[in-house]
Amino acid sequence: MTTSHYIAGRWVEGQGSDCISVNDPALGQPFAELMAASVAQVDQAVTAARGALHAWKNTSASERATYLRGFAEELGQRRETLITLQMRNNGKPRHEAEIDLDDAIATFSYYAELAEQLPSKNRDVPLAAPGFTARTRLEPVGVVGLIVPWNFPLVTSAWKLAPALAAGCTVVLKPSEVTPLIEQAYGQIADALGLPAGVLNIVNGKAETGAALSNHNGLDKLSFTGSNSVGSQVMRSASAQCRPVTLELGGKSAIVVFDDCDVDQAVEWIVAGITWNAGQMCSATSRLLVQDGIADALLTRLQAALENLRVGNPLTEEVDMGPLTSQAQWLKVASYFATAREEGLHCLAGGKALDRDGWFVSPTLYADVPKDSRLWTEEIFGPVLCARRFATEEQAIAEANDSRFGLVATVCSADLERAERVADALEVGHVWINSVQAVFVETSWGGTKGSGIGRELGPWGLSAYQSVKHVTRCLG
Ligand code: NAD
Repeated sequence: MTTSHYIAGRWVEGQGSDCISVNDPALGQPFAELMAASVAQVDQAVTAARGALHAWKNTSASERATYLRGFAEELGQRRETLITLQMRNNGKPRHEAEIDLDDAIATFSYYAELAEQLPSKNRDVPLAAPGFTARTRLEPVGVVGLIVPWNFPLVTSAWKLAPALAAGCTVVLKPSEVTPLIEQAYGQIADALGLPAGVLNIVNGKAETGAALSNHNGLDKLSFTGSNSVGSQVMRSASAQCRPVTLELGGKSAIVVFDDCDVDQAVEWIVAGITWNAGQMCSATSRLLVQDGIADALLTRLQAALENLRVGNPLTEEVDMGPLTSQAQWLKVASYFATAREEGLHCLAGGKALDRDGWFVSPTLYADVPKDSRLWTEEIFGPVLCARRFATEEQAIAEANDSRFGLVATVCSADLERAERVADALEVGHVWINSVQAVFVETSWGGTKGSGIGRELGPWGLSAYQSVKHVTRCLG
């Protein structure tokens, strides 16, 4: 049993009623358990964050930057532990777990730099009207609740924690119940750095704990990453209290491949876009649109590439793809295989769970999927790729945009002018041209349509935790 809640600078045992099992998905077995935080403990965490706010927001920006650099440094010192824990609890292959850690480190370093630049952002505002002066002050939003999912635990939390702390907010973080141990590193680092008590609090638990946080009237803002169904509940609680919310939700993103592409290179991009993290990515490019001229050749090579992937336990084998992270996710993906069979989809690769211990499925490809298939329209969150063919650029754009989601897209073409034109026409928050899933901390992250509200990363990620105040003075 693990002590796993960090409230007001102390580690405490959970007093909730849920016992949370922490599983190794490659074996389908638990390796730790913990008691969830109670509603009263969530309240204590919010109260601690409120109590710490005044002093924290009045620290100098350079002092906050020093703490953020400390987070980056301390994450690096825990490298092996954090990589192993992600492999064991998420089922990530080693190289993916390493990239996640490096992403989290880069995020803290980047927001340390932005924190240092904060004083220069408070500036005079020139007025056309005579007799007045005005100046802007960027202030922290206040006490922020951060609710995150399980697929990139270190990264998603870093994308919220680093800008929130840089802005001068105090926070209560609720990690996913599927991966509750990984983000404990942030509490341990807060301890090691002597971060003032209450600035960062962590409460673990399931839906009840998340709801206790998102309904709490002591928050000034909530930032949520997760599914659309929970996101809409979080938005309802924000609307009941008229407070701001950032939502990073699901996706059903397109990868558009024109027939001037090098087929082997395109196959590499397509495979990475659907099998990285076993396809459990909000940004998975799970709808392949391929131009008629290369469609047959590309689908044949894609089938071979998916069938040749090494799928296995990342802790004991060298693998390209690990298991799905939870049994619930495994059952969900398996239910889409059943739907595909009922719909009579043309399966070129996979389409089944693996007959072995753990929560493994085969990398899967369905070809010529009808537009109204559930597999074409719904987020599956697994290594399941659906393909359709197109003839013209206009058709590709129309089909790519025909989705209730709008998170990301990839465009592959040797004609860069065309690729840029298509990128501009796609209704999404982020487009990759001739690359796949490359996320840099300086660029924004977030979606249009059903993929969410607001942006993370870059200066936009910092603004999400700031409020603009103007001070206008009459000179007369
Ligand atoms: P989820 O919505 O089930 O859970 C997310 C978090 O919300 C967890 O911490 C969970 O405990 C908590 N929660 C559950 N019920 C709650 C409630 N009623 N009130 C408040 N909190 C509650 O999502 P998941 O299964 O953990 O993650 C997968 C989803 O996340 C996918 O849809 C994926 O696309 C999305 N996601 C989006 C992004 C992005 O940047 N857009 C990134 C990663 C994941």
